[in-house]
Amino acid sequence: VSSAAEKFDFFYLVQQWPGSFCDTRQGCCFPDTGKPPADFGIHGMWPNYAKCGRGRQEELATGLLEEDAVAFLSGVGRRGKCWPEYCDDGNALSPWEIRDMVASLDRSWPTLSCKSGRSFEFWSYEWKKHGTCSNLEQHEYFARALALKARYNLTAILAGAGIVPSDTATYSLSSVREAIARGTGATANLECNRDADGNAQLFQVYQCVDREGKKLIDCPLSMPTKCSRDKVKLPVF
Ligand code: 5GP
Ligand code: 5GP
Repeated sequence: VSSAAEKFDFFYLVQQWPGSFCDTRQGCCFPDTGKPPADFGIHGMWPNYAKCGRGRQEELATGLLEEDAVAFLSGVGRRGKCWPEYCDDGNALSPWEIRDMVASLDRSWPTLSCKSGRSFEFWSYEWKKHGTCSNLEQHEYFARALALKARYNLTAILAGAGIVPSDTATYSLSSVREAIARGTGATANLECNRDADGNAQLFQVYQCVDREGKKLIDCPLSMPTKCSRDKVKLPVF
């Protein structure tokens, strides 16, 4: 275990909305196991520092909306990287270690990339880049991400607030933010992308999780939403 891994402050549990991954200009491909459910899917669980390099943050914030840039820069420390990654390149994900969770992972952590239809390759990449810095064993890392996702069903939480997939409706970002805070008991960060026509849509939700990967916490950092305006779509998948 590297020293970088021991020092992170919290995880981002990042989930992607498949409708927003797929309707971009780049498009998507379904995994070998078939079309995933119309539900948020896990992208990864990423160890993160609560304070990181101001210079780098300012660079990243350049070109953002004023409001987003201010939110992004607040709470950022003076020195250091924002997260550890690739903490142990010798530690490759073993199919055997996660064999009891494959059906759940296929449902909850499917690949939508066209590089490969094999979700295992996505899980392996996320394990190597982020999981090896988590201080968790392979099985624990995936089991905790799955447990958190199952406990707070974002699709159902949004639906409960009237935020349902639609190709025509738009929703205010603040209503999305509030629904998640109320439904999970913790604030989260949001990220938008654009569909092929350039409309802003909710793409990823970044929930913040304690160092054990067990409990949600309010996010200690805000980040740029990449949403061009307050109204966003949640496209049908
Ligand atoms: P992007 O540049 O597309 O936002 O992110 C590319 C990759 O960098 C992500 O897939 C993830 O591996 C890593 N990354 C981006 N932002 C963060 C972050 O805030 N924390 C961590 N730990 N990794 C990040
Ligand atoms: P990150 O953005 O986490 O550094 O990188 C994600 C990597 O996993 C990229 O190389 C991407 O091609 C691959 N990948 C495979 N499936 C998916 C998926 O469903 N969503 C995303 N965002 N990346 C995926």
